[in-house]
Amino acid sequence: MATMHFFLPLLPDEHYYSRIARMAVLTPTKSITDFYHAWLGVNRVLSPLKDYEAIRHDVATTTHANTKTTAREDVLYRHTSAGFYRHFLNVEQQRALLDVASKDKRKAFFIPWLTKVRHAHCWQSCPQCIEDDITKFGTSYWHVAHQLPTATTCHKHRSQTLMTRCNHCGWQQTDLRETPLPDISCPECEHDMSENLPVANAANAAIQKIGLALHLSSDTSQRPSHKPQIHRLVEYAFGDTIRDRQQAYWETKAQIEHAFWDWVWENRIDSYFDVNADEELQNILCLEPIMNTPTKVTPLAHIIWLAFFHHIGQFDHARLSSAS
Ligand SMILES: [Zn+2]
Ligand SMILES: [Zn+2]
Repeated sequence: MATMHFFLPLLPDEHYYSRIARMAVLTPTKSITDFYHAWLGVNRVLSPLKDYEAIRHDVATTTHANTKTTAREDVLYRHTSAGFYRHFLNVEQQRALLDVASKDKRKAFFIPWLTKVRHAHCWQSCPQCIEDDITKFGTSYWHVAHQLPTATTCHKHRSQTLMTRCNHCGWQQTDLRETPLPDISCPECEHDMSENLPVANAANAAIQKIGLALHLSSDTSQRPSHKPQIHRLVEYAFGDTIRDRQQAYWETKAQIEHAFWDWVWENRIDSYFDVNADEELQNILCLEPIMNTPTKVTPLAHIIWLAFFHHIGQFDHARLSSAS
């Protein structure tokens, strides 16, 4: 690995890849390929998809083996999406994530169906944060909170929908090697990407609130929780509904599922996914596997169901803190 002659610190809530991309901007153009090769070893796309799996090796090398686990934990949990996804990993997987030596356990961190989650492989940015960050730090940068699969608006500018793509030419922010710094104008056609953004609804806000709570939760690997995980919360909320309605299980289940799908179509929940047909979405969000085989279901499906149970008054956010 080539010696790096400069090293930029991570900015607040900055994604780990964003810092690498900012450093690339300061590197002379002719050595840019060498620069990325030195950092990534391989020709890797700088995508938020499974970032923590890819990054943990970089974190291990750049924070040195003798650095305390807490430093690596801080980088992974605060500067990648691991802070969010770790809640869907078991305690052993969470420990392996932070263990420098466990190089061969990549597959251990498998999160199902991520490739179907639209925001999981596209970078999102907030036009107001871009302006604020330039004023405050002299540069725009990619925030982790904007990259959560649950994020539709900015966590700071609550009503500001995030930019993912150009509404004019369809260009998408997928690789930071192409767009090292977030910008309001499209790099392809120079249109203003902050124009005509969809307005977030109450369902989007509820989904986002749960995602952000998981991302910001402060428990550590030193004190991992052995309480029932987030994986079980949909089942609990459903159980409460059964008790409240005092009718046959199948009857409640049919009513709940019916109301859920009305809510999904009303609130355009399908826009969270890249699916070809309604049946595909119905498989991803199907209630039975979420309760019966919860670890085989994508995290966003759990969160969407929790947001729905919150909507019908069967889910209390306090449960999140005891589960995460
Ligand atoms: Zn913002
Ligand atoms: Zn464009």
